[in-house]
Amino acid sequence: MNRKQIAAANWKMNLTWQQAEELLAQLFQHPLNLGADQYVSLGVPFPYLSLALNAAKNVQHTGVAAQNCYNRKNGAFTGETSAEMLQSMGVQYVILGHSERREYFNESNQLLAEKVDIALAHGLTPIFCCGEALDIREAGTQNDFVANQLKESLYHLTPEAFEKIVIAYEPIWAIGTGKTATSEQAQEMHAYLRSALAAQYGTEVASRISILYGGSVKGSNAKEIFGMPDVDGGLVGGASLKADEFLQVIAGLKS
Ligand code: PEP
Repeated sequence: MNRKQIAAANWKMNLTWQQAEELLAQLFQHPLNLGADQYVSLGVPFPYLSLALNAAKNVQHTGVAAQNCYNRKNGAFTGETSAEMLQSMGVQYVILGHSERREYFNESNQLLAEKVDIALAHGLTPIFCCGEALDIREAGTQNDFVANQLKESLYHLTPEAFEKIVIAYEPIWAIGTGKTATSEQAQEMHAYLRSALAAQYGTEVASRISILYGGSVKGSNAKEIFGMPDVDGGLVGGASLKADEFLQVIAGLKS
């Protein structure tokens, strides 16, 4: 089986309802013509999940992602959203551990391990984000840093559970900055991560895990970055808010 190649949008906290409707209409105006191993995920704000689910309903290989979920099953947690709720709506993916959630909402590797567990228990595919800040990259310790994020949040999983995870490597210094890692820098980290996964779970499992790159991916650079052997698509913020850009990103997926 070939690895899934995924173009994953992350709208973050952007767009009004009307703008969301318009963007979805533009995205699905024409067939996406996704190949056998190509997939699209739309990471929309919670209030727009139904809208996106409806728009993507009959679109093959296309699913909807929540941008977070809570680490508890249900109960008196005002303002939170459970994995069970997402599952019951038909949401397929959940973005977990985005650097913005780690930084602004103090999400730790330990908390994320719990979120990963509850997401998997409810049939959701976690898009698990990892990545280093600029000071870590400058100190040259990015490999150890990212490997530790995986270890503390994911390595308690059985190989069967681990295979359900999608990893998104997002160097923080490249998110929303217009500063993209070079395709070589992306490949280097992705290859390192795959070797770390192989050491933990074996080469078979590691070879089946999709590792997305995130950080200022746009229409004009997607094809080159996604063309690297260990890069299996991207998690895309800014460029996912414009239909033509995101469609170009999708077109950049390896076939
Ligand atoms: C992101 O939010 O995951 C991201 C990569 O953002 P951007 O594409 O805008 O850098």
